[in-house]
Amino acid sequence: MVGKRQVWVSVTLAEDDERVPRLFELLRKHNETWLEVHEDRYTDDELDNARLLLMHPNRECEIDGGIWCGTTYDWSEACPACGTPARQTSAMFIEGEEIPKLEGHRAGATLVELPLVDERLAEALEESGATGLYFRSVYAVMEDRRQVKLRWKQLCAKRSLPPMSPLTTGLGRYHECEVCMRNGYGRTSEAPTRIVYRASDLADADDVNMTWEHYNEAALKPDMRDTHLSYPYILVTPKVMRIFRAAGVTEFDWIPIRVVDDA
Ligand SMILES: [Zn+2]
Repeated sequence: MVGKRQVWVSVTLAEDDERVPRLFELLRKHNETWLEVHEDRYTDDELDNARLLLMHPNRECEIDGGIWCGTTYDWSEACPACGTPARQTSAMFIEGEEIPKLEGHRAGATLVELPLVDERLAEALEESGATGLYFRSVYAVMEDRRQVKLRWKQLCAKRSLPPMSPLTTGLGRYHECEVCMRNGYGRTSEAPTRIVYRASDLADADDVNMTWEHYNEAALKPDMRDTHLSYPYILVTPKVMRIFRAAGVTEFDWIPIRVVDDA
């Protein structure tokens, strides 16, 4: 509309702030729509003392890559309906055009949230002796189909944890597979992500772990370029988080999990 400008405004307030109801009242009065996002904030102490942390990419460095760029998967032990959990069998391939997006970053993630780190950070992680992790090479696929090896690695976890406790909140289900019920999980804006595990299920957890639960809906298609897969979340110990933070990495949110007794 001529003469009318739309401006996006983001406001962060504590849930018990008395201005919250007044803000909603004003928005309603002026017929404005809004998006509410509910998140927990944690102190450094809380992060440092967590049993495990969800390592969640915050889209500061997001790269197009994955199955549609040639990354291959093995489905022999996966759900026949949705392919969960597919086992990656090749390096990570990304779009060549995306290379400039990596500049100025030491870590990031693919569009489907698979973590990528630069070579030096991969070395630091390896040298720390952190358990449960391994790395895959990252290649860019150029316009002429040439594959160029990048000085980046995909961070992967070797093992999957048992399912979360049903006390977990803030993870919604979207188009989950009705055969395996293992995918379609997703963080929701309506409630903070509060992942809960039974203590005994974490007894032999590594420093880097996959969740049994997979995010994203999945669709297996004859053409890999049309195929969508579900992926596990990555949960790490504070030791791993500290290595990322010491490297100045800000491209991930760290969300502590909660642990309950088995009784
Ligand atoms: Zn399935």
